[in-house]
Amino acid sequence: MKYQCPVCFYDGLPYPPADYHICLCCGTEFGNDDADFSHAQLREMWIESGARWFFREPPVEWNPWVQLVKAGMLEVIPDSQTRVIIDAAFASIGEDADYQKQEVLIAEEFSRTDWEALVISERELAGVEG
Ligand SMILES: [Zn+2]
Repeated sequence: MKYQCPVCFYDGLPYPPADYHICLCCGTEFGNDDADFSHAQLREMWIESGARWFFREPPVEWNPWVQLVKAGMLEVIPDSQTRVIIDAAFASIGEDADYQKQEVLIAEEFSRTDWEALVISERELAGVEG
């Protein structure tokens, strides 16, 4: 059984987020860090420090922003990162002159559904089922 971190939403924790276990992803120590700060505050601090993987090497294909989008936390993602991910999603049509003109428009209109589609296509690319 895997557990999800309530701070960063990493869902591969081998133990419940309690009893002084530490999240492999964001480094939150449950029962200690979250006694002093709310999960939302800890999340904010993790994102502000760059949303880095905490313990050793991150899993292959791990991406903190995709993880947050999947958890429905689109609003916590910094604009700079939103642009990076959108650019990556549209890289295949990056040569298109119309795309250059519409770049800003696309960024503004990139809806939640688009994010979900992007996450699904990334999972397909990674060969992950379900
Ligand atoms: Zn975490």
